[in-house]
Amino acid sequence: MLGLAKKTADEFEAKFGYAPTGVWSAPGRVNIIGEHTDYNEGFVLPIAINRATYAAIALREDDTARVASTFSDAVVELNIAQLGEASGWAAYPLGVAHVLGASKGFDLFIDSDVPVGAGLSSSAAIECAVALGLDELLGLGNDRRALARIGQRAENEVVGAPTGIMDQSASLLGKVDHAVFLDCQSLEVENVALGFAAAALEVVIIDTRVAHRLNDGGYAARRAACEAAAKAFEVPSLRHLSLETLEAGRELVDDVTYRRARHIITENDRVLSFVAALKLGDFKRCGELMVQSHVSMRDDFEISVDELDTAVETSMRHGAVGARMTGGGFGGASIALCPIEKISDLTNSVYAEFELLGYARPDIFTVNAADGATRQI
Ligand code: ADP
Ligand code: MG
Repeated sequence: MLGLAKKTADEFEAKFGYAPTGVWSAPGRVNIIGEHTDYNEGFVLPIAINRATYAAIALREDDTARVASTFSDAVVELNIAQLGEASGWAAYPLGVAHVLGASKGFDLFIDSDVPVGAGLSSSAAIECAVALGLDELLGLGNDRRALARIGQRAENEVVGAPTGIMDQSASLLGKVDHAVFLDCQSLEVENVALGFAAAALEVVIIDTRVAHRLNDGGYAARRAACEAAAKAFEVPSLRHLSLETLEAGRELVDDVTYRRARHIITENDRVLSFVAALKLGDFKRCGELMVQSHVSMRDDFEISVDELDTAVETSMRHGAVGARMTGGGFGGASIALCPIEKISDLTNSVYAEFELLGYARPDIFTVNAADGATRQI
């Protein structure tokens, strides 16, 4: 959207007193299926969405880095030698600059229409917009896969959130009307045609507004359980463990660890089945797999919350072909694959059910699969 790109350039100029050299955008993402599989070297199937973060950037002649955002009035200013010590929201953009090894100062302004903390990865959007822009201005020549790794490292090492490679891959490698089928072991990517528009289907997001915190412990605990299971079965990651081996060796781990591993193994299978079903245009099967995925996250991986369960169940009762919570869990959003003519009934029913149960009013909107990060101006 050029409107927001232009606005970001104007905001840069108002803040810093001169025009930026360029504006880069990177989309948020929603994961269609394959949750918590990324750090287990498994499969994921996100789409880049038609909501993005914009980074207006100019290099400076000195070694000062300044960053500002519509988030706050304050300008964060650091010497480029201290980029790795950035904290708060500035850790995302400055962490990227740190990992890129920025050798020059820069001014940076961020604006965005990706909802924050909704499971749509506003974090990857900001990282990838900054990574693409700074890489180009500094002439570093990283390709998109390398930039995805750089965004991930910024989030892991500077922000301190132990997230996988999925979000940045979707934001950088997304394609309009296609999903990003990513093998997190080989990092091979295939853009798989969705065919949703031709089937009169749309992806509905229900943001429960229950805040999720990836650096709060639940996410790290799930990672630790997966690592413990892999260790107990003497495999490098759960990617290498079959359901049969897990069942046969059930006594090697406690019940919780067993169920965590079972989610990862069955979820990997569901991603592969979903891709196969997409290629056949079998949306009924796609929907079944989404619901199975939700049940597995609710019961085996235990990362759902009541609001997400309600959103999924209500979606299924009101016309969705499939529905599941999406993102890291403990809040955030659910998605529904829904026939276009049933979206208003689904939406109204979810609002009504949430009100009945005394939950905060969710934010409900549709998204389309969009292209990955790009230079706008
Ligand atoms: P999610 O990625 O699901 O939206 P995260 O907690 O991973 O949630 O990342 C959200 C954080 O990313 C915000 O709290 C903020 O620190 C940073 N962030 C995202 N968008 C912006 C923005 N437009 N300006 C400044 N910081 C942002
Ligand atoms: Mg995030």
